Amino acid sequence: MGHEDGVGEDYLFKIVLIGDSAVGKSNLLSRFARNEFDTNSKATIGVEFQTQVVEIDGKEVKAQIWDTAGQERFRAVTSAYYRGAVGALIVYDISRRTTFDSVKRWLEELSTHCDTTMARMLVGNKCDLENIRDVSVEEGKSLAEAEGLFFMETSALDATNVQTAFEIVIREIYINISRKVL
Ligand code: GDP
Ligand code: MG
Repeated sequence: MGHEDGVGEDYLFKIVLIGDSAVGKSNLLSRFARNEFDTNSKATIGVEFQTQVVEIDGKEVKAQIWDTAGQERFRAVTSAYYRGAVGALIVYDISRRTTFDSVKRWLEELSTHCDTTMARMLVGNKCDLENIRDVSVEEGKSLAEAEGLFFMETSALDATNVQTAFEIVIREIYINISRKVL
């Protein structure tokens, strides 16, 4: 976890996780990076970022994924958090509408710190909680379309789409950067 410097790697991408408190950001990251799920949310406080290596088109791509580590409780995170980010996952909880309503505010904050050409995905997490769903798939999809975001529903609990969501963002960053280089 943590401190690799990227030397000798083909690419190193910074990706940020944002969204309201308790939507499952830390668990999405631990599911992706270590295939773990924590039922105790307090256990995940304090992790700054995790680095995960993904292979794309035969190239080794390192994704450095940042977690808010609790800062989002104050409904904003520091500019240092966003600095240098080329991808973002904006997460809400499909069983809590208020977290979906907050997405616009998170997008605004993101746009004040980052280039809007960055790879962005809207993530409706906790899709295992179908019985207490509060936001429909269609609502998620249409917000994503309106804002020009990728969209996916995930479950950090049962691992649905977690790998895929991160990989789509990483692949999009790779494509964006390859285009700029050419
Ligand atoms: P964060 O504040 O956004 O980092 O959220 P956490 O990852 O700490 O998760 C908040 C709470 O939601 C914890 O109690 C988790 O166990 C729970 N949780 C996270 N992801 C899921 C999920 O996909 N499904 C369900 N049912 N619970 C989840
Ligand atoms: Mg967290």
